[in-house]
Amino acid sequence: LSRAAQLVFDFAEGDRTQADLLGGKGANLAEMTRLGLPVPPGFTVTTEACRHYLARGTEPPTLREQVTAALRRLEDRLGRRLGDAEEPLLVSVRSGAKVSMPGMMDTILNVGLNDHSVKGLAAAAQDERFAWDSYRRLVQMFGRTVLGIRGGLFDDALTAAKARAGVATDVEVPATGLRDLVETFKHIVATESGREFPQDPREQLDLAIRSVFDSWNTERARIYRRRERIPHDLGTAVNVCAMVFGNLGETSGTGVAFTRDPATGRPGGYGDYLANAQGEDVVAGIRNTMSLQDLARQDPASHAELMRIMRRLEAHYRDLCDVEFTVERGKLWMLQTRIGKRTAAAAFRIAAHLVDEHVITLDEALTRVTGDQLAQLMFPQFDPGAAGTLLTRGMAASPGAAVGEVVFDSATAISRAAAGARVLLCRRETSPDDLEGMIAAAGVLTSRGGKTSHAAVVARGMGRTCVCGAEEIDIDAEQRVLRVGDVVIAEGDVVSIDGSTGEVFAGERPVVPSPVVTYLEHGLDTAVEGLDADAADLVRAVDRLLRHADETRRLAVRANADTAEDAARARRLGAQGIGLCRTEHMFLGERRVLIERLVLAESADAHAEALAALLTLQRDDFLELLTAMDGLPTTIRLLDAPLHEFLPDRTELAVRVAVAEATGGTVDPQDERLLGAVQRRHESNPMLGLRAVRLALVVPGLFAMQVRAIAEAAAARIAAGGRPRVEIMVPLVASVMELHLVRGEIDGVIAEVAERAGVALDIPVGTMIELPRAALTADRIAEAAEFFSFGTNDLTQTTWGFSRDDVEAEIFASYLEQGVFTVSPFESLDRDGVGSLVRMAAAAGRRTRPGLPLGVCGEHGGDPGSVRFFHDAGLDYVSCSPYRIPVARLEAGRAAL
Ligand code: ADP
Ligand code: MG
Ligand code: MG
Repeated sequence: LSRAAQLVFDFAEGDRTQADLLGGKGANLAEMTRLGLPVPPGFTVTTEACRHYLARGTEPPTLREQVTAALRRLEDRLGRRLGDAEEPLLVSVRSGAKVSMPGMMDTILNVGLNDHSVKGLAAAAQDERFAWDSYRRLVQMFGRTVLGIRGGLFDDALTAAKARAGVATDVEVPATGLRDLVETFKHIVATESGREFPQDPREQLDLAIRSVFDSWNTERARIYRRRERIPHDLGTAVNVCAMVFGNLGETSGTGVAFTRDPATGRPGGYGDYLANAQGEDVVAGIRNTMSLQDLARQDPASHAELMRIMRRLEAHYRDLCDVEFTVERGKLWMLQTRIGKRTAAAAFRIAAHLVDEHVITLDEALTRVTGDQLAQLMFPQFDPGAAGTLLTRGMAASPGAAVGEVVFDSATAISRAAAGARVLLCRRETSPDDLEGMIAAAGVLTSRGGKTSHAAVVARGMGRTCVCGAEEIDIDAEQRVLRVGDVVIAEGDVVSIDGSTGEVFAGERPVVPSPVVTYLEHGLDTAVEGLDADAADLVRAVDRLLRHADETRRLAVRANADTAEDAARARRLGAQGIGLCRTEHMFLGERRVLIERLVLAESADAHAEALAALLTLQRDDFLELLTAMDGLPTTIRLLDAPLHEFLPDRTELAVRVAVAEATGGTVDPQDERLLGAVQRRHESNPMLGLRAVRLALVVPGLFAMQVRAIAEAAAARIAAGGRPRVEIMVPLVASVMELHLVRGEIDGVIAEVAERAGVALDIPVGTMIELPRAALTADRIAEAAEFFSFGTNDLTQTTWGFSRDDVEAEIFASYLEQGVFTVSPFESLDRDGVGSLVRMAAAAGRRTRPGLPLGVCGEHGGDPGSVRFFHDAGLDYVSCSPYRIPVARLEAGRAAL
């Protein structure tokens, strides 16, 4: 840091673009000042000064003189001196990082008060009570945040003072009571910190600034940053702002407001105001706040001014803003603004409204909403009209609305669910032992743990609704009850949880399907019928933005669908084809016996017979699928499952045979042969074993049968006047040689079917890229592949060496907690590792075969962050499960902007 570096900026010097240097709060205070809004003057100590302090342990050498100069300018401008005995200037010291960060230092108000200036303040304001109230607040905040004294000590003393005065609220404590309270507070400071409360105003200021710097590295702040992926080396700015007073009686007050309702998106100001109060009183819930409408009645001038300023801010920032303000004896002051947070529904509605109001373009509107928000709007919801008793609120860990009987252990969850009950599994925290209970439950509720706790991660992974860390709940698994305050809920009682808000309700709340899903599946007209105005407006906003995303995007969106029914739904949801039809699902259920017959076939005839039986069934499957997807590309993947998955369980079979032998009974010869086959086929790592293309090369005839079924189905569709656009995909290829070998067989069958049917069959044959070796040799593989589809599930599995079936519950909660990754690589594509294989293979494939079509068909195809990556990597389409299609469409549109 050079000596010349400017470390302190007056509010009048900066603007909103300087959040890196001035922090978000400082940059926006500067912006409001620049706009000529009524902001109390002040200055900002830069993040650069903070970084220097954090690295060296001392303030930059010039900081002191720069603060002195800025303070002098402030004093000259206001004609008052900091902490002066006559009419003192007081300031607030406020932290403010680039991004808003709960968990950092609380603001210290009224800096500059001491035993002398408190009298000057009382005289100047002609309000004794106000001055002592301000002083006691300073000692309290300073003691807690700068000196690290437990806040409860001050709170208890305040409660005692209220009791002594015989009053219920702090505003009723008289001046004398507050003066005594200051003495008590100073005593607490001296005994707890071993030092007197500093009387020197400048020392107060310097200590407060330093403690804001220090607060960057508190445990809470560090945890928050890790969770939100905020770099640890940004540092925070410090804002020093002349005090204005909301605690100067009934014509004063403090409030927070939004330019629109952040919950629903409804236009018009929305906020809370508290008269005769300071700072955080309004959010601390110590007294009942009033609405902006109430303020309009009580102080119409301030209200009108606030509304005018909010309109100005919204027009300027071109988005929903939130503000913090204070009224001092009828004069309005703005203390903070920023682009406001909002719910998913509000995000869509506000974006659409701002387009209507000609504030932003449709392109910009698209940047204001996310695929995650759309996904949230698609979950079933509690009927907003229905009453419910809110028990408590935990963390919104996995969205959805779940209702069920409370159970306290996994075994009970399983047995009750088996008996047909809907259950909510309630645990202090969950462990891998709870897995089956979680699967059986409609939802999971825990009293401990955050959004990366075991319960949260696993529930999200399997799409279970989950509220975690509801700390007010005391779960007593021994007594089989849970308690929230005085309320006791016994096992079997019904509770409702909202995984999108974290709310927990007593009793059953009615669940309704999301109107957004009705819209997506059945169109706008059907969806808005009977909806209230807010819901209808939301559906229209979604429609508008989604249609714009479709017009904007380059990536096509296909569906992963195995049945004609899924395919039809996917089409309604906007799928432009099927990117992955898994054929192994077609061998389950009653058809298992056919596979058994195939495996057990001892003669060539028996083998051929078993295959023929399968062929008929498969052809019908494909015929239905191609009918549903007429005119759209349909990628069918050849069998990709270890054969043993279709055979009986090895242990069960072995026991059956052993019992029969031991009891001298007759062993079923079929069982014996099956056991032999199952034992021969047993693998320790079936995921890395005999499956997919390997199966084709080891068990001849299987792939040929499937290809024949596909080709015959396509020929039949053509004969019926349809337009089948089927593509065949070979899974788990590692070497081009494998592909050459199976293609020999595949191409032969297609040619034969075409000739026999007398039609031209254009069926591209491609491969999945789902093994590192395939990615690394993609240039060679492209010689034999007419398209690539990245199977990012297996590619993640094999690149990391994680077994997807085992690892998530066990290892991931701990990895997330320890920061190895911030999101499961199975959920969101690991760009650095797996992503670089994707990029590499895409480029190599297209070098060999220019224009090679590229797609992705793993779960990542529907993950918002991953969709952006695939767009950037130049892929042609993503394929995902039907309900993720709208999410992918929206994100693909956003990625193309
Ligand atoms: P946070 O980041 O937690 O919102 P702030 O720095 O905004 O903290 O301060 C919290 C509250 O303290 C503000 O909303 C405002 O009510 C009050 N406050 C801060 N500075 C001043 C000031 N100069 N005059 C009056 N009140 C202030
Ligand atoms: Mg705060
Ligand atoms: Mg604030």
